[in-house]
Amino acid sequence: MDKLNLIMIKYFLLLIILSNGILMAQDIEFANNLYYNYQNYKEPSLKNRRIKHQDIVSLVDQLKSNPEFNVNITGNSVENRSIYLIKVGTGKTKIFLWSQMHGDESTATMAIFDIFNFLSANDFLNDFRNKLLQNVTLYFMPMVNPDGAEVFQRRNDFDIDINRDAISQQTPEGKILKETFDSLKADFGFNLHDQSIHHSAGHSFKPATLSFLAPADNYEKTIDTVRSNAMKVIGQMYQVLSSFIPGHMAKYSDDFEPRAFGDNFQKWGTSTILIESGGWKDDTEKQFIRKLNFIALLCSFKSISEKNFMNESLDVYDKIPFNEEDLMDLIIRRVKYVKNRIEYSFDIGINRTEVNINHSTGFYYKSAIEDLGDLSVFFGYEDYDFEDMEISPGKTYPVKFDSIEEIQKLNLDDLYSEGYTNVILNSQNFDDDFSSLAINIIKNQNYVEKTNIKIGEIPNFVIRKNEKVKFVIINGFIYDVINSIGDINNGLILQ
Ligand SMILES: [Zn+2]
Repeated sequence: MDKLNLIMIKYFLLLIILSNGILMAQDIEFANNLYYNYQNYKEPSLKNRRIKHQDIVSLVDQLKSNPEFNVNITGNSVENRSIYLIKVGTGKTKIFLWSQMHGDESTATMAIFDIFNFLSANDFLNDFRNKLLQNVTLYFMPMVNPDGAEVFQRRNDFDIDINRDAISQQTPEGKILKETFDSLKADFGFNLHDQSIHHSAGHSFKPATLSFLAPADNYEKTIDTVRSNAMKVIGQMYQVLSSFIPGHMAKYSDDFEPRAFGDNFQKWGTSTILIESGGWKDDTEKQFIRKLNFIALLCSFKSISEKNFMNESLDVYDKIPFNEEDLMDLIIRRVKYVKNRIEYSFDIGINRTEVNINHSTGFYYKSAIEDLGDLSVFFGYEDYDFEDMEISPGKTYPVKFDSIEEIQKLNLDDLYSEGYTNVILNSQNFDDDFSSLAINIIKNQNYVEKTNIKIGEIPNFVIRKNEKVKFVIINGFIYDVINSIGDINNGLILQ
C-alpha cells in the first residue's frame, strides 16, 4: 500500500468518526493492527478454497494441546467425518459461529483457523485477547458439511441442502447444528457462507465482497431486540471494513426462509448475523476475502465483548445497499458483427463456471455466453468497449496433430493472428476433459465449427480491427494478441 492510500484511509477514518461518533478511534486502530499484522496469524497450511476435512483434523488436534481451547466432537457426517465444536474463553456472553454448512463455501473456515492462531498468539495484542476471553466464550463449529467439502459441492452426501433442514433435521449435520445451538443458547450467532461472485453492492460495478444480514424471523420482517442487536453489530463491522473495502459491502436478501438456520436461530433468541463472502477482482482463491473475514469477526467480538454495539444506531444497517446481480466475468461492448453482409453492433456478456477435477482438489473453467444485446445495466470484472472492432467465431487450424507435445511446440500467438482458436488432435491417448493449453482441442473428427453467437455457447472468438486480429477470446478468457497480454486459464475439448 502506498503512502497516498494510507493518507486516504486515515482521512476516511476521520470522516467516519466525525460523521457518527460511535465507532471509537481505538476500534479503527485495532482493525488496522489486524490488517497490517495478518501474516503473523494466517494459517499457512490452508492455501485455497478446496480444503478438505483431513486438512483441518491435524489443526484441530493441535488445539487440544493448548489448555485455553476445549475441543469436542459433536457427532459425525453421513460419511462418518467428525464435526467439531471448539470452545475458547470463560466469559458470560456466548458467541456461536458455524461455517461451511455448504460444502463449497470455505472462506470463513480458513478465517476461523487464522482466528485460532490469533487467539493462541503472544504479542502486543495480549491485553485485547485477555479481556476478550474474560468477557465472552466463543464456540466454533468449522466445516459443518465435511462430506460436501470433500467433493466441493453445496449439499451434503444425500444431496440435501443443510440450510433447509433447521426444522425437520433430516440430515445428521443439521441435527448436530440444531442440538448444539439448543445446548448453547448463545447470545450471538455467526452464520458463515460464500455467495456468488456476480453479486454487486447495490447497482454498481463493485462486487459485494462481503454481504451481511440480520435475518428476518417472520414473513413480516419485524425487528425485535434480538434482531436489532445483530443489526447493530453489523453496522459496526460495516464501518470498520469501509476503510479497507469502501463500497464493496451489501446486505443479503432479507426474505424470510422458514427452513433456514439463520432465520430460525434469530427466532429462537440468538442475535444472528449472516456473513457471505463474495468476489474480489483477481482473488480467485479468496485469500484477501479470508483476511477480511478474520478482521470482521474479531472486530465483532470486540464490539460484543465491550458492548460498543449497544450505542450504534440502526441507520448504518438500514443504509447498506442490498445485493444486486449486476456483474459478469467479461463484457465486450458494441462490437461489430457481420451477418449476410449486413453489419450489426451489440454487447456480449460472458460468465465462467468452475468444474471440479482431481477428486475436487482442483478445477477447470467452462465458460458460456450469458447474455447478448444492450448490457448497459451490467458491469464486467473485465469490461471492454470494442466499438471499432469486429467479432467472428474462432476457426480450427487445418493441420492435424498426433500428440499434445506437438501442440505444445506451436507458437500460439501466430495461430491467433491467423484467426485460429482450435486445433485438431488425432490421438486416442488423450482423455482429459479440458485443455490445459491456451487453445481448444478438437478430438471428434465430425466436429462442426460454430458460426453463430448464441446464449449458452462456449465463447471462442477472434476480434479484429481493420482486418488485423487484435484479441482472441478462448473459453471466455480474453487475450491481447498484439501485446501478448492476458491469461487464458484453460481451453476446452470441443465436442
Ligand atoms: Zn451458503
